[in-house]
Amino acid sequence: MVTPGLLLEGTWTHPAGATLHAVRSPFSGETLGEVVISELADVDSALASAVKGAQVWRRTPAHQRSAILLEAARIADTRSEELAQTISSEMGKSIREARGEASRAGEIIRLSAFEGSQRYGESLPLDANLGTGFDKLGFTVPEPVGVVVAITPFNYPSLLVLHKVAPALAAGNAVVLKPALSAPLTAIALVQCFLDAGLPPGVLGLVNGPGSTLGTALVSDARVNKVSFTGSTAVGERITQIAGIKKLSLELGASSPVIVSKNADLEQAAHSISLGGYVNAGQVCIAAQRIIVERAIEDDFVALLKEKVEAITVGNPLDDDTMVGTLITEAEAIRVEKAIEGVVADGANLVTGGQRDRTMVAPAIISNVSADHSFAQTELFGPAVSITTAKDYQHALELANNSPYGLGAGVFTHDHDESTQAIREIDAGVVHINWTPLWRADLMPYGGIKSSGIGKEGVRTTVNEMTNWKTVIMHSRV
Ligand code: NAD
Repeated sequence: MVTPGLLLEGTWTHPAGATLHAVRSPFSGETLGEVVISELADVDSALASAVKGAQVWRRTPAHQRSAILLEAARIADTRSEELAQTISSEMGKSIREARGEASRAGEIIRLSAFEGSQRYGESLPLDANLGTGFDKLGFTVPEPVGVVVAITPFNYPSLLVLHKVAPALAAGNAVVLKPALSAPLTAIALVQCFLDAGLPPGVLGLVNGPGSTLGTALVSDARVNKVSFTGSTAVGERITQIAGIKKLSLELGASSPVIVSKNADLEQAAHSISLGGYVNAGQVCIAAQRIIVERAIEDDFVALLKEKVEAITVGNPLDDDTMVGTLITEAEAIRVEKAIEGVVADGANLVTGGQRDRTMVAPAIISNVSADHSFAQTELFGPAVSITTAKDYQHALELANNSPYGLGAGVFTHDHDESTQAIREIDAGVVHINWTPLWRADLMPYGGIKSSGIGKEGVRTTVNEMTNWKTVIMHSRV
């Protein structure tokens, strides 16, 4: 079945002789669909179309844009189960997780529609500036940035597409979307919701293909006003080198720390980490990866965590009972298996898990991991956590900051002073007290510092990031 994966001028296009890419289930290997691979000429057409679409959309009043987005949200709600099946089938997360992700689609679009109607500017108190009187009036006016390129990864193929596309459209921009080639079917289904809701031609385009060619062409094109990228730090860094002068938002990788203090509720910590380290087979930028535990409670905590991790069911993502499905490819599963074997060969202790069955890896805990080992320092993106011992709470904070990344962090403690110290001292974009970093509300500002990225997402923040605030000064003769 050919799924039309090239959207130009509001029409799905299948050029004669186009290369097709088979999208396969990482669990069964079954072909789920074939998408048209775009050529560089298609990127050029998509951007030309977006330039025209941006002019149409910026002249569309916010209430009309909002009405179309609300209709797209309604349609997404009605297609939620279909969307969940597509997510689970093409990227291997369990259907229960996929249903959770799909159920947020309509809500993200609705939140965006709301925020797009709430862009209040400010009046400027110019007369407070020495030398300026009452002859001038100043204020700011919101304008769309123009053409937004949205490039997304495979791991949350609905959520991360919508966190870019919906706020961009709400703010009046045209968008060219390039989803991950390993999971494009969800993006195509979402785009269809906007088309069915009546989005004018050219306002949203979609190209499929390898990031190395298409992504590079999109990012470096002068017609693009903003690049919104979510993916690995290596690609994010490359984008900073080739983008030229345009707005950039980069949501990148991480190796997130979680501190378990001697003042923690160990049951709560173990429960939360048994989710945060393993959801989506650990393929989450905010996965709990580096578990830093105070020595005094380490044995008790690890015993509790082991029990919970061993209860995680791994298997066919489409089975209702499955908690954790596959990794995205067998090569990724082998990489994770080897990383676990490597750290154990270097002296760490395999508490549980780590065995591989094709694209699945049994949820693992590895203790006695040195804080500087690559197993802790490099983003794992797999279903395993490392346990590192801290001699006391101060040491735990130092270990938490011992990382090139700074996306999310979690701290388990019921000591108020320890919470306050963590909030003040941990270098991360988001800090959770008494939960792991693997938690996100779609309206909250979300994003990393250091090698984890530039800027924040979250619907209100993104609408603002995708808006230019023009300053207007009126000079009068009175
Ligand atoms: P990836 O970087 O390999 O690919 C992401 C996207 O970038 C894909 O669409 C890919 O085709 C495209 N791409 C590849 N090379 C490119 C180039 N040279 N120019 C432009 N685009 C290019 O990432 P992935 O494997 O799909 O996803 C996993 C990574 O994403 C992890 O590092 C994870 O931490 C990160 N991630 C971050 C967040 C966040 O919010 N910070 C969220 C999800 C995933």
